[in-house]
Amino acid sequence: MTAKLRNDCFALPPGVNWIPLEDALARLRDRVTPVVGEDLVPLNAIRGRILSQDIVALRANPPAPNSAVDGYGFAGAALDELVTLPLADGRSAAGDPYGGVLPAGHALRILTGAIVPEGMETVVLQEDVEIAGGKIQFRGPLKQGANLRRAGEDFSAGDVVLRKGRRLRPEDAALLAAAGLAEVPVYRPLRVGVFSNGDEVVMPGTIAPEDMGAGKIYDSNRPMLLSLLSDWGFHAVDLGHVRDSRAALRDRLTSAVAEVDAVLTSGGVSTGDEDHVSALLRDEGQIDSWRIAIKPGRPLALGLWPAAEALLPVFGLPGNPVAAFVTALLFARPALGVMAGQAWREPQGFMVPAAFAKSKKPGRREFLRARLNTDGQAEVFKSEGSGRISGLSWADGLVELPHEAAEITTGTPVRFLPYSCFN
Ligand code: AMP
Ligand code: MG
Repeated sequence: MTAKLRNDCFALPPGVNWIPLEDALARLRDRVTPVVGEDLVPLNAIRGRILSQDIVALRANPPAPNSAVDGYGFAGAALDELVTLPLADGRSAAGDPYGGVLPAGHALRILTGAIVPEGMETVVLQEDVEIAGGKIQFRGPLKQGANLRRAGEDFSAGDVVLRKGRRLRPEDAALLAAAGLAEVPVYRPLRVGVFSNGDEVVMPGTIAPEDMGAGKIYDSNRPMLLSLLSDWGFHAVDLGHVRDSRAALRDRLTSAVAEVDAVLTSGGVSTGDEDHVSALLRDEGQIDSWRIAIKPGRPLALGLWPAAEALLPVFGLPGNPVAAFVTALLFARPALGVMAGQAWREPQGFMVPAAFAKSKKPGRREFLRARLNTDGQAEVFKSEGSGRISGLSWADGLVELPHEAAEITTGTPVRFLPYSCFN
């Protein structure tokens, strides 16, 4: 555990009550910093890793001018309607360049990727050429430089090709290889633990449905949050389920310190009698219960659990699975990203016409489970009830309605946030 967050990093100024979402996010963004060390990984292991330094090209791409096609090269442009040129002996192939200078007034066979010899400035496609008696003939005009790639036209040696904080994708391996790198500096994966809390919550697989008492429910949040964390590229650690007991919670947090860099919990963060997560953090650690003006989402607690070397950040998400999901996307995702070394990420939503009607009250942002219909309009789940877990699977994303009042009818533009935009 290497968290280096300030001990008041989640604190709200005194007197602050319901805070608008953007203020809560800005506050969080200002307070989180990378907490993980660095590693060096070979190109075949970069996927999903986060660059810890800017990457400078060691070599230009292309390193030398080369042909973009299989054809015949010559000097200058081909301005005439019918061009005839004698063929020089030899050829230039990729990895087997033509040694000399192209004789003036001649054409030379050249293949894709082959270095363009001195004296060659333009290439004509082999399909456009007729060969007879040691000469080529083709129809002009052809501009000077046609079918050639200039040295460094993609990037030059010394250019920054990728920036620190980028989560690496497969195509980046192609770029890094071309830039002459065999391995790159990345952050170590952020380890995030997940536990659920609540005496009613039962780990799936431990009690058969027919043996569950009426008051028991299966743990939906933990498998959901563990999967989300893996999707986001973090190292997800299952910390199990913890009863509504302060001692059990204390033990779990204390043992988690050695295993993880941050913890996501769900349930027990309100101010009810059995909300032991918030009570424990309040008495023995630090906690800020953020009353954020969003629906669904209350309550959300950002806490720090004290350990010898550092403080363990604890994201106390609501117990309700719909609220836990939405707050995980909105708050845990960007904050954990920064802890893992990524830049702070704003979800990239886009405007689409609504396929629903709704009269929204002012004073909070609302997130509706939504998906696009075949006309590209956002339809919303039949119920806004946050207990309807099935709506999360029905949807492919969220429609975000503004803090202000809104009168939405079919066709009104609304902001759609596909789930994937949080990845
Ligand atoms: P709490 O915040 O602990 O009062 O929980 C709020 C609601 O979420 C209650 O209805 C809980 O039973 C439910 N809940 C809490 N944790 C989970 C979980 N891991 N899976 C499914 N539902 C949960
Ligand atoms: Mg509870």
